Amino acid sequence: MIFRIYSLFPEFFESPLKCGLLGKAITGGLIDVSVVDIRSYSLNKHRRCDDYPYGGGSGMVIMPEPLFAAFEANETGDSKVIYMSPSGSLLNQGVVKRLSKEKEISILCGNYEGIDQRVIDSFVDEEISIGDYVLSGGEFAALILLDSVARYIPGFMSNEESLIEESFESDLLEYPQWTRPAEFRGHKVPEVLLSGDHDKIKNWRHEKRIEKTRLKRPDLYKKYLERLLLRE
Ligand code: SAH
Repeated sequence: MIFRIYSLFPEFFESPLKCGLLGKAITGGLIDVSVVDIRSYSLNKHRRCDDYPYGGGSGMVIMPEPLFAAFEANETGDSKVIYMSPSGSLLNQGVVKRLSKEKEISILCGNYEGIDQRVIDSFVDEEISIGDYVLSGGEFAALILLDSVARYIPGFMSNEESLIEESFESDLLEYPQWTRPAEFRGHKVPEVLLSGDHDKIKNWRHEKRIEKTRLKRPDLYKKYLERLLLRE
């Protein structure tokens, strides 16, 4: 899968793209991530990319010229173009799974007060927000989108089964986890997990997922119940 990230701060991505599973997926050739430096497309002799907003108001807006030039030079026409924006639809696991089926994704990062609307109207297929709060730059959000989508690409996870029972699958959170030692500072691992009885463990974990979701995320629990009722 190909990812292209448009940013005024390409250096932001240097270490995140080298670390952990994401780093491994890139060096292993499973995903191809390139970062397009918007500033290098500026026609301005000082490489300036922002200007005052028409109509007044605080802050600066990214100008259309460098963004149009960057898109025209890099887009193939096969890419889903996403603008990270607080005005977008909220990112969730359903959106992540849907996007993981794309061949090519381009992610545009805004900065300052945002970008000229003509860029959105001309190039953007979808606006995505990572939550109801405001970041200083789309780079933070782009990394979150990239990482969450990449996890669904076959071969990214060393154990793909972990995608099946994790949080948000079937509208439930994941069951609690323990590792060795079986007793630590007087706290014991639940007996059932040491029993070796796989059916019993499976049922117990399912019960724990339901209990945890009911307590921690009543909104999600409601969705889970509604889906159960629909199935009956
Ligand atoms: N003035 C804008 C906020 C600009 S924040 C407003 O009120 O909506 C600067 C950039 O950070 C944005 O252009 C966007 O790319 C990014 N950003 C900020 N919050 C975000 C969020 N919740 N999700 C995704 N991107 C966000």
